[in-house]
Amino acid sequence: MNQEVTDDFYCDFVFSGKVDVERVSETENVLAFKHTRPFWETHIVVVPKRHVASLLTILPEDERLLIELLEVVNKVATETVERTGAARVITNLGRYQESKHLHFHVCSGEKIRPDQPVRSLDHS
Ligand SMILES: [Zn+2]
Repeated sequence: MNQEVTDDFYCDFVFSGKVDVERVSETENVLAFKHTRPFWETHIVVVPKRHVASLLTILPEDERLLIELLEVVNKVATETVERTGAARVITNLGRYQESKHLHFHVCSGEKIRPDQPVRSLDHS
């Protein structure tokens, strides 16, 4: 299996079931799981199960999905802050966004892997 030939890791690998992920939290429309190749000591990805390309392509009809997504981000970030004392919530856009499916990173702790060059083959 080659995970490195897609620009949508979530639809192509996670939601297709090709890759097993360690689920942290899940609702009807949103999944949070541990990053498969973490950059930080705590690195959780929160992603809508339905395809939304990015924060820049959100439509008015996505409102309910976004609220549900942010509720899961809130829950995961709250748990992370309670456990570690701090967290960052990041969503990448444009050429910073490796996987063209909206996702939020909830990160905390030391960086454990350097940033990859923009437009490398890994998902981010
Ligand atoms: Zn997608």
